[in-house]
Amino acid sequence: KLASREFHPEDSVFDVKGVRIGGGHLAMIAGPCAIEGEDLLYETAVKVRDAGANILRGGAFKPRTSPYSFQGLGEEGLRILRRVGDALHMPVVTEVMDPRQVELVAKYADMFQIGARNMQNFDLLKEVGKVRLPVLIKRGMSATVKDLLMSAEYILAQGNREVILCERGIRTFEDSTRNTLDLSIVPNVKGLSHLPIIVDPSHATGRPELIPAMARAAVAAGADGVHVEVHTCPEKALSDGPQALLPEQYARLTAELRRLAELM
Ligand code: PEP
Ligand code: MN
Repeated sequence: KLASREFHPEDSVFDVKGVRIGGGHLAMIAGPCAIEGEDLLYETAVKVRDAGANILRGGAFKPRTSPYSFQGLGEEGLRILRRVGDALHMPVVTEVMDPRQVELVAKYADMFQIGARNMQNFDLLKEVGKVRLPVLIKRGMSATVKDLLMSAEYILAQGNREVILCERGIRTFEDSTRNTLDLSIVPNVKGLSHLPIIVDPSHATGRPELIPAMARAAVAAGADGVHVEVHTCPEKALSDGPQALLPEQYARLTAELRRLAELM
């Protein structure tokens, strides 16, 4: 299998427009859940960049549980993300939800994000597999480690060799957190695969007060990066406000993560 350690014994290291992920290079992906407007994204992006984020995230196409919730700004959101990324010299990652959007999203993004809900949208995986852009694929909420690696395989089999895995919590009986963070996946995947794996403590916990500890634990476990949602005004956020860190909280966290990474 193309994702396996046997196929590729060394850790894979990928370049996302100048930012390396894997092999000890930490991806610090941060930004709002959704792109809500240019001024707000710019303000947030400056703050996360100054805090040490090296990749900017933001959703233009949002997979909302309710069809009545904000669905994202679509192509206008992609344009905003591109402009802000360029202005701040940050690579940008954004979710693609549909095979028909792959070409459009590829015009604006430096890395595709495949959301948890689409981890087994095999037609989507095949489509991003045909493009030469790194793909961040999030673990489905009821997907096993094997399922996740098989989904990565779909992308790799099409010729795209740049796949980054992301643990974002799974569904269990526990309901005091949004999902249950399965941190053992990090060393588990590292044994099975050469692909980088990062952790998203925001969607995994849904609770800002738990995010820093889980992010530190992820780095201590050997994760290749952390993916964190940040909003300047979480109460007003159009999606995932309750789990957003304030920029100041994110800055404290990145300082801790840098110190931790030095010990590793
Ligand atoms: C997101 O990153 O905003 C998102 C929708 O994540 P997930 O697919 O992990 O739920
Ligand atoms: Mn979100």
